[in-house]
Amino acid sequence: MPLSDYPEDEIVAEAFRILRERRRSAKPKNLKPCPKCGKLFGVREMRIHIPRCELKEGI
Ligand SMILES: [Zn+2]
Repeated sequence: MPLSDYPEDEIVAEAFRILRERRRSAKPKNLKPCPKCGKLFGVREMRIHIPRCELKEGI
């Protein structure tokens, strides 16, 4: 299938999708492992995760 026959919308959508993924991977968050389970979290995610993780451990 020649590129000119390809629906333009799909090309644009695909290009945006790739751009978004590249931006995500280009800016790695400062991930730290959870002291309890060892999973990697950003600062905000860690704050949300730790109480939940501790609850799970506490049961
Ligand atoms: Zn955890």
